[in-house]
Amino acid sequence: MISSLQSALDTFPTVSLMSQPTPIVRLTRLEQACGARARGIRIFVKRDDLGETGGGGNKLRKLAFLLGEALATNVDTVVAMGGLQSNHARLSAAACARLGLSCELLLVDTVPKHEVDYRENGNVLLDRIFGATITFLPAHSDAMSVAQARAAELSSVGRKAMVIPTGGSSPLGALGYAGCAQEILDYEAANGIEFGHIVVPNGSSATHAGLTAGLQIAARRGKIVRAYSVLHDQPTTYAKTVQLIEGALALLGASDTPFDAASDVTVDGSYRGDGYGLPTSAMIDAVQLLARTEGLLLDPVYSGKAFSGLLSDIETGRLGTDTDVLFVMTGGTPGLFAYRNTFAPDIAR
Ligand SMILES: *Cc1c(COP(=O)(O)O)cnc(C)c1O
Repeated sequence: MISSLQSALDTFPTVSLMSQPTPIVRLTRLEQACGARARGIRIFVKRDDLGETGGGGNKLRKLAFLLGEALATNVDTVVAMGGLQSNHARLSAAACARLGLSCELLLVDTVPKHEVDYRENGNVLLDRIFGATITFLPAHSDAMSVAQARAAELSSVGRKAMVIPTGGSSPLGALGYAGCAQEILDYEAANGIEFGHIVVPNGSSATHAGLTAGLQIAARRGKIVRAYSVLHDQPTTYAKTVQLIEGALALLGASDTPFDAASDVTVDGSYRGDGYGLPTSAMIDAVQLLARTEGLLLDPVYSGKAFSGLLSDIETGRLGTDTDVLFVMTGGTPGLFAYRNTFAPDIAR
């Protein structure tokens, strides 16, 4: 047994990319508008979109651990990968700039969207501004193999590269969200509240996995993280999440933590629509509803779809009544600019 979650996390080298804890705020106008109020459901959001570096977003918590390790091991170049509009790529570029590391991005043409805004605006534009070296790869490329070859090449000329997998989702990256779990528990203790549901989007799964690992270590079994998968199908996402939870528990020296995948991991795959990065009408409605009731921005690829799932589950009674729900806002706002046609289809070009 480890003595505490926080002391286990404190043994890892980290870098500071954002102020923590991030704020938790209640959204009463949204509660009224979406029918939550009528069911006695209170909706809170944790503002993980507010990180100061690179426009903010959930990848900063993972990068705090990943780049902490990079600095501790004298890495000079980070090779990161993702889709064309990857928030992780953008935040890697920004964080590397801040730390004086070189950043090379491998961006895979995963989503069949061909508008100029998708290909050159949003995160891609910011990647360029942050000074990253970008290599574009065709759909279905094995970016990990390309990255490893590049790392070997850099090593042969005396440099040292760290390869970061898609979304920063390794067990080490997941520790960032074990830290977020600690913040949530601290908030509950300080405010005399207990969230009945913690809700997140699940893409490459380390956000969900880290939160779950953290909650399990803090002995909060039964506190279920509700995740909506937006990248892979439900079974693939579930399996990857379980694997990352086990990896994170092992890294923290907490493999003896009671953890039952069947009851402790919930992934809902029914709000992904036609595929990763492809808009759904429920996503558009969710983004507009939160913007118009609370002045807050979701993103079109992850949090917008997850929030549409949350709204639907509230409406159909799946979350029950008289409960406090915490939605983790994961950022991704620059993606909105890549989806201009989705939100403003009538504007003449
Ligand atoms: C990457 C991302 C997610 C998903 O997080 P994972 O840890 O990859 O599951 C959610 N929201 C936004 C905005 C993201 O960029």
